[in-house]
Amino acid sequence: MANLLFDALFAPLNGRTSAVLILPCDREIIGDAFHAQICRIANVLHLNGIQPGDRVAAQITKSPEALALYGACVALGVVFLPLNPAYTDSEVAYFLTDATPRLLVCDSARAATLAPEMPVLTLNSDGSGTLIDAAKTQPATFTPTPRQPDDLAALLYTSGTTGRSKGAMLSQDNLLSNAQTLARLWRFTSNDTLLHALPIFHTHGLFVATNVALLTHGTMIFLPNFHPDTILHHLPRATAMMGVPTFYTRLLDDPRFTKQAAAHMRLFISGSAPLLHDTHRAFEARTGQKILERYGMTETNMNTSNPYMGERRAGTVGHPLPGVEVKITENGETLPQGKTGMIEVRGPNVFKGYWNMPDKTAAELRPDGFFLPGDLGLFDADGYLHIVGRQKDLIISGGFNIYPKELELLLDATPGVAESAVIGLPHPDFGEAVFAVLTAVAGTRLDPDQVLKTLHASLARFKHPKAAVVVNELPRNAMGKVQKNVLRAEYGGWFG
Ligand code: AMP
Repeated sequence: MANLLFDALFAPLNGRTSAVLILPCDREIIGDAFHAQICRIANVLHLNGIQPGDRVAAQITKSPEALALYGACVALGVVFLPLNPAYTDSEVAYFLTDATPRLLVCDSARAATLAPEMPVLTLNSDGSGTLIDAAKTQPATFTPTPRQPDDLAALLYTSGTTGRSKGAMLSQDNLLSNAQTLARLWRFTSNDTLLHALPIFHTHGLFVATNVALLTHGTMIFLPNFHPDTILHHLPRATAMMGVPTFYTRLLDDPRFTKQAAAHMRLFISGSAPLLHDTHRAFEARTGQKILERYGMTETNMNTSNPYMGERRAGTVGHPLPGVEVKITENGETLPQGKTGMIEVRGPNVFKGYWNMPDKTAAELRPDGFFLPGDLGLFDADGYLHIVGRQKDLIISGGFNIYPKELELLLDATPGVAESAVIGLPHPDFGEAVFAVLTAVAGTRLDPDQVLKTLHASLARFKHPKAAVVVNELPRNAMGKVQKNVLRAEYGGWFG
């Protein structure tokens, strides 16, 4: 029996003489040296009594060592549990209690304040710490633990904007099958150098970006975060980039990002949050290239993608990936093309359930294998999937369903409006009333009431927002998603 995930992603680094990572300072990490680091860390974990199937939690800054820890966990067959470094002590305490990891890896400062019950090794943002000290004296070889395809490789907590954060159990095969599909579809090869500025505690940066690059023996320009200066410095060496929509809006805001600067790039991919039509079009107008938008989530990795060849349709997330089924349903019945309903997905990418939450698992993962991510969508006549929004963001006003996306598209197209977020707020007569939060195009003064009037001609009366405000920027999480829960909390008392 083999360890297929390790064999596919990390074993090929052994003996590789080319760079696997390029760091912000342009320093290169050669594949073979990175493989040795992974093996040394795997030996440290083993020496600390970590067994295959145990969880190892890691709340660490993005660094080559942090990525090597992921590789070491795969080698040893332990379940990697990455946590957002922004989580506070009390948030981390919840994850540790829920997941009961055998080991926590965190930076020295966190180790001092958290004082968790399990053993701790430290890894600081500069690559120092007790984990790395211990690794220095370990052998640079390690025999990977054999694993079954259904054995867990990772436990990834959802961002949990409502209720408790849920731990999605992802198997070796969930990760490997999806990386293989994406690599083929997006034509990644060993000639690619991926500009990687995403965090690695989230599926986008950890699995979509990293797994695809490693699987295809490519190189990653491994940046701690997104900064236009660093991106523009490294862009000439890159062939592809994966990002959240805000990466692209920020690049477009920078006059140094020209057609010429992007001319050598073969692919720009966007996901994790909706890419506005405007951004898609402005990007094409600037660079002559169309961003490829795809759709996925913590529980499934990726489900759909716009085509590599063929039309990349703005405002859509493309077609189901090969081997992945996507249907639109209402009360479990499949709806025809053009009708909006719940998105359901099934395939080798779909997770094994939520850790310690059998009821949540039963509610969201049907016995026939279809998972309900809580997103609403529809297929257009050409089979492109349109995400209409989160089901929990659906507004029910006076008994009528209102899809925020329909209003947001109209608002975004209104002159002077840069972005919008439409939410439902408690209302004494209507149950919920529609409320719009707007941002203005730089240098424009927006009159919210005037903006709302422009909707009247094109929308049925029950959909009209009852009020709107203009803010400097919309609240977003680390992945660029607009946090409608924050807006609902802030404006919750608006209608009394
Ligand atoms: P996460 O689990 O943090 O990756 O969040 C997954 C959620 O992000 C999905 O259920 C969608 O609501 C949203 N999402 C991901 N990609 C897209 C996209 N391309 N367009 C719109 N929403 C997206």
